[in-house]
Order: sequence, then structure tokens, then C-alpha cells
Amino acid sequence: MAFMAYLRADSSKLSWPTGRPVELDAPLDWACSGRGWNCCVGNAIPLTPYDVVRVRHATHKTSQQMIDEGLTTFEWRGGLMTAWFAHVPFQGNKRACVFYEELTNDGVRRVREEEPERFASFPPEVQRAADRTGDYRVTALCAIHANRPEACRAFPFMLRSDWNEQPEQPAAEVVHRCGTCALKKKTTVRQVMLDNDLEQFWRPAEAWRIIKLYLVSRGLGHANDPKYRSLPLDLSTRTEIWNNCFNPDAFDVVAERFPDQWHISEDLAGDDQILRLVLTSTLDRVDALVAESGIAIEDLGLIGEPPAVRPNLDRLLDPSRPVLPVIAAAVAS
Ligand code: SF4
Repeated sequence: MAFMAYLRADSSKLSWPTGRPVELDAPLDWACSGRGWNCCVGNAIPLTPYDVVRVRHATHKTSQQMIDEGLTTFEWRGGLMTAWFAHVPFQGNKRACVFYEELTNDGVRRVREEEPERFASFPPEVQRAADRTGDYRVTALCAIHANRPEACRAFPFMLRSDWNEQPEQPAAEVVHRCGTCALKKKTTVRQVMLDNDLEQFWRPAEAWRIIKLYLVSRGLGHANDPKYRSLPLDLSTRTEIWNNCFNPDAFDVVAERFPDQWHISEDLAGDDQILRLVLTSTLDRVDALVAESGIAIEDLGLIGEPPAVRPNLDRLLDPSRPVLPVIAAAVAS
């Protein structure tokens, strides 16, 4: 029953960014002010299993603690379970990401008095605000900046995770109009995304997209559609299977092989191994449940859709696999 209790996200109060195609290499005048006023307020921040593995290092909490403390929340959406960062009330009727902290000059002054070490880490222009009068917005901080999720790194852009299946479409989308501040400079969407270390996130994101399709194909979705044929499982078990994909520390094999790994500030190789353990264990469990049910895979999932093939994680997570289309100009030359 506990797994059902985790279903408490309410993304209906937030905007769910929809994308408009944008050319990856078209010249762009753009910059990010780094204050999060457009991205961290009012927007739903969806998570992938890899995002969760990474964020543990920034919060120094297990994924279970993050769920128990309400930092990670879940909801069934479109027949799939999605995970989100929680939001908290912000400036009247708005909502902001739970990791977002806006600092006014009064706030900076308070940090100087109460957290001198943290104050010392602020850039000089933020420190100077502590001596100014009035109460105005100075800056905003992300408490998990070094391990923030893919959606935050790419904002206001995103890479279509199926770009290599539809190469005739632009590979990127823009989800918000921002970035025309005084700092703007000549760049491209490709450059903006590469500057945010997104390469580490794209392969796991594509793997997760394909695994979701596999779970749905094996009847693990949660849909009222009469054309959808579910695996006979109670909702709690169904919820648990999806939920655990975002809860690596719930897996015994992770706890045995990577005890307390979330204490370390960064461990990319370990994170990759943990993700593989989580996804492999999930696929194994689903395959075992389907076998136990005695139902043919052709009789599960959406009527008319052929059964999905079990995802090949070694191929999907292969670090040598390209994550972006090659630059068109380079091909032309
Ligand atoms: S995780 Fe950080 S960057 Fe992302 S929305 Fe929250 S505060 Fe903003």
C-alpha cells in the first residue's frame, strides 16, 4: 500500500512545456541569466531514473529518503507513471521547484549573518547586495545545481529522444521563450545543450523512453482504454514496479554493491552501473511476471501494436553511441 501513498504529485497546477521544433545548428542570440525565474517557477520538472540516481549525490539522501520527504513525487499520466520534483508555494499563487531558492538583498544579508561560509561562496555582485537598502530580487540558486536533472539543463530547449528514429524532423525543440537578456551572445541550440553536460543524460533518457514502451507493451501500463490489455496485477504491484525505477536504493543488489554511494558528491561510473542494475532488474521482473501469467506477449498491450522487443541496454547505454545528429555543414563538406 505504501507505493500508492507515493502518488501525490499534482502536475495540473503547473505548466507542462510543449515544444516547437528548432534547428540544432541555426545561429541564435541567446544567454541564460542563471536566475531560474522562467524555468524553476511554474513548470513541471519531469525526472528520468538516471536523474534520480544523480540527484542523490546533491541531496546526500537515498532515493527512498527523497520520496519519504516528498521531494520526489509520482503520478499516473497517460497510462505511464511519471516522476516529478515537488513544488512549493512561491510568491502568492505561484509554485516553484522544491530546490529553488530566490534571494532578495534581505535574504543575502541573512545568509551573511547566519551562514558565513555559504555567503563566502556567493559571487561578489551577490555579496554586495547585502549592503543595499530596499528589498529586491538579487539572484536565485538551485540547491542541487551540479546534479540537476536533464530537463533543467536543457531548458528552454530539449532534445527529442527519438531524433534518430525521425531524422527528417529537427532534433531539438524550444519549450519557452527566454534568454534575450543583456548577456545574450551568438550561439546555437547544440552549443547551449553541450555546455550543460547533457551528453551524460541523453543515452539514459532514450533508454528510459524505450523501456517505458516495453513495459506498456507487456501490459504494465495503467490505462482505462478498452483496447489496452493489462497484465493481471493489482494496482499496488503495478505502481511499485514503476515506482522502483525511480528508487534505486530500493534494490537489494544496489544496496549490496553500492552501499552509501549517494554520500559521494560524484561517481559517474557508479551511477551508470546502478542505472543498469535498476533497469535490468525491472526488465527481468516484468519478464518473469509475464511468464508466470501464462499470457502470450501478443495478447498484452494495445490491440494492433506488435509486442516490443526487450530493450538492449548495452547498446542503448553504449558511451560510443552518437547522442546528437552530426552537424549538417560537416556532412556537406
Ligand atoms: S532542480 Fe534546480 S534548476 Fe531544476 S527547477 Fe529545481 S531549482 Fe531549478
